Amino acid sequence: MTAERSSEPILIAGGGIGGLSAAIALARQGRPVRILERGETFSEAGAGIQLGPNATRILRQWEVLERLGDDLVAPEGVSVFDGLSGARLAMVPLGAAAERRYGSPYVVVHRADLQRGLLETARARPEIEIATGFELTRYESVAEGIAAHATSGEVARGSALIAADGIASRVRKQLNPDAALRFSGRTAWRTLLEPTAVPSLGPEQRTGLWLAPNAHLVHYAVRGGRAVNIVAVVEDRWNQEGWNTEADASELLPHYAAWAAPARAALEAARSWRKWALFELAPLACWSSGTVVLLGDAAHPMLPFLAQGGAMAIEDAAVLARELARPGTPVEAAFGRYVSLRQGRTLNVQEASRRNGRVYHLAGAARWARNLVLRSRRPEALLGRFDWLYGFDPGAP
Ligand SMILES: Cc1cc2nc3c(=O)[nH]c(=O)nc-3n(C[C@H](O)[C@H](O)[C@H](O)COP(=O)(O)OP(=O)(O)OC[C@H]3O[C@@H](n4cnc5c(N)ncnc54)[C@H](O)[C@@H]3O)c2cc1C
Repeated sequence: MTAERSSEPILIAGGGIGGLSAAIALARQGRPVRILERGETFSEAGAGIQLGPNATRILRQWEVLERLGDDLVAPEGVSVFDGLSGARLAMVPLGAAAERRYGSPYVVVHRADLQRGLLETARARPEIEIATGFELTRYESVAEGIAAHATSGEVARGSALIAADGIASRVRKQLNPDAALRFSGRTAWRTLLEPTAVPSLGPEQRTGLWLAPNAHLVHYAVRGGRAVNIVAVVEDRWNQEGWNTEADASELLPHYAAWAAPARAALEAARSWRKWALFELAPLACWSSGTVVLLGDAAHPMLPFLAQGGAMAIEDAAVLARELARPGTPVEAAFGRYVSLRQGRTLNVQEASRRNGRVYHLAGAARWARNLVLRSRRPEALLGRFDWLYGFDPGAP
């Protein structure tokens, strides 16, 4: 069966960033797809997401970016601070500098707004069918393609299966029974505040990264500047899986007791926190088998210290669609090429993210050396270090 001949839909497990992206990319080629999402609705837990130019380049091509309209914020830059002294170490220029350098913007957005933009785009395409309340438990290869089984007993049939079912992917477990997530020793805490509640961060500091031994802090505006998203990352032993655990500030604030006053004031202003444990996965032996393939966090979950997990899922979707579009290519061969193209890049991003996590929490002499390097770099050079990441262009599908 060649990629362009199948009349059965391609099944996509998961309607998150990766699943919706894959659906849009394939629908743009006129290919029927069926999304199988376990949730009854698409409500996205409230937190922000940063989208580098590598992600916005693709979202713009898919006409998703324009749907986000006033909900997007394109920060002028990221200020980097030493969390203990409060000194500003560097400013990585974004805004016009990123647009000039990469031809696409660096933006920050609320996840619910991104989800809405992707979902609206998907719903506008007649090629895309969306089934909610379908929790995939396993798949099997059958004569005509793939049968995907749900907890409800329902069975969905398609020509192929793209598994975008996230960090705890069922399909990944079926393909790699021995692959186990490993707790990173860190938890991420998030809250959303009104800008007036965090005057200590100042308008020009609304996009900030604060570094200190054993903890760091990230903040940026979302909802078109109507809210500030704060993410605090600490070294911790709590390691339950899940996205949305309510958490008590009294556990978090001691990690920041020795921090500079503006950062502490922002943390103390928050009324509620949610936390989640951060997990890693060693590179997988198997991303694909026949007409089944993994995409996004299912294939390569990553620590969030480069803010690129969602962007990688978007890139995956664009590359997968491009490979499927090659005339005369069997689906299995297209999936194989996608895997060989994506494994190296996503591994590099995983490693860069892990490295950032180490550098962010340096202590003692290493902390001073890091600060010195950051202070000595020209702003454009700081941005230029990301050319390999933000310059990625999968080309027109
Ligand atoms: C603290 C933190 C901050 C982050 N910040 C950024 C950032 O700034 N920028 C960035 O690009 N990335 C960021 N990420 C990473 C990003 O959130 C993920 O990489 C991204 O959501 C992965 O998309 P996905 O579609 O693979 O998985 P998900 O978005 O998790 O979607 C998976 C979907 O599959 C569904 N599903 C799960 N199991 C099943 C099943 N069995 N059957 C059917 N459906 C199922 C789920 O309900 C969900 O809808 C961050 C992550 C964390 C933890």
